[in-house]
Amino acid sequence: MTIYPVDLSSDTQTRPTPAMRQAIANAVVGDEQKREDPTVNRLQEMTAELCGKEAALFLPTGTMCNLIAHFIHCRAGDEIILDVSYHPVNFEGAGPSLHSRAAMRFTNSPTGIFSGADVDALVRPKDPHFPTSRLVCIENTVNLRGGRVWPMAAIRDVTSAARRHGLATHMDGARLMNAVVASGVKAAEICAPFDSTWIDLSKGLGCPVGGVLVGSKAFIEQAWRWKHSFGGAMRQAGIIAAAGVYALEHNIERLAEDHAKAKALATGLADIRGIEVDAASVESNIVVFDIAGTGVDRATFLDRVIRHGVRFSPLMKATELRAVTHLDIPADGVERALAAVREAVM
Ligand SMILES: *Cc1c(COP(=O)(O)O)cnc(C)c1O
Repeated sequence: MTIYPVDLSSDTQTRPTPAMRQAIANAVVGDEQKREDPTVNRLQEMTAELCGKEAALFLPTGTMCNLIAHFIHCRAGDEIILDVSYHPVNFEGAGPSLHSRAAMRFTNSPTGIFSGADVDALVRPKDPHFPTSRLVCIENTVNLRGGRVWPMAAIRDVTSAARRHGLATHMDGARLMNAVVASGVKAAEICAPFDSTWIDLSKGLGCPVGGVLVGSKAFIEQAWRWKHSFGGAMRQAGIIAAAGVYALEHNIERLAEDHAKAKALATGLADIRGIEVDAASVESNIVVFDIAGTGVDRATFLDRVIRHGVRFSPLMKATELRAVTHLDIPADGVERALAAVREAVM
């Protein structure tokens, strides 16, 4: 097994800390499918309260949170409005078309943030020729667009446009807690205008497994049904939910450290000849940068930095890379990453 000491490839690269492992070891468990696992129940109550929703459901992955939400909101032949950079479009194995048999219609925003006017423009007229517009999704923060945080004004603009057209609203909150810490706006306030949303436990919150979907009681009852159908209903899942309870209690406020590291990394990268990065726009834990101007091809670049134990992830554009900070990045990790990059482009 290779462990990269400065693994900036993703915030999924965290490993449970000794204290989290202790919480896992001590977890009180029961049969989750019978709703008798006290630790799963506790995690669901905590997340529902945090997000200001009536109910919550623990699921194995964030992908399943999106899948089940799309499935509940949409019928075959419906259409989802979302940005072309979002996770379900690119990384869920065609989930919306495969499971919900829904079409997708895209905004193409440089930040991943769009407006109510964009929704107005993309909603289909009610006519049998067209897919039926049904759902508007936003992603907060926007992963592939450098971890952008949706401003509340934009959220209100988009969700009120959706409501005007009678569309449902869903927020992919894989990194919602990063948005909360970066903006200082409470999670419940950000979640309020949405019919459904979720948080990922296995990203910056540092858990090994899981996501928690939230919404109204009626929505979560339907989600239970599909959790069984999609094979996501578990048994003594308190073993993994315990990590989530621990994370909600200990790992939210500390996301600010990750954000400071991302800012420092972006600022440092901006000073390196040939590297293009918009350091001013870095608000959370993701930095997207372009190495075209260095003249070093990406495979060579990645190879060179990895020799120093530093890892980034390649994005779709051939000269673009992503760095994601998280709780396993050591205190001197940014310095080490910058030193490795300087040497790689020399
Ligand atoms: C990681 C991620 C997901 C999927 O979560 P998994 O837990 O990996 O299935 C969905 N949306 C966004 C924005 C993500 O970053």
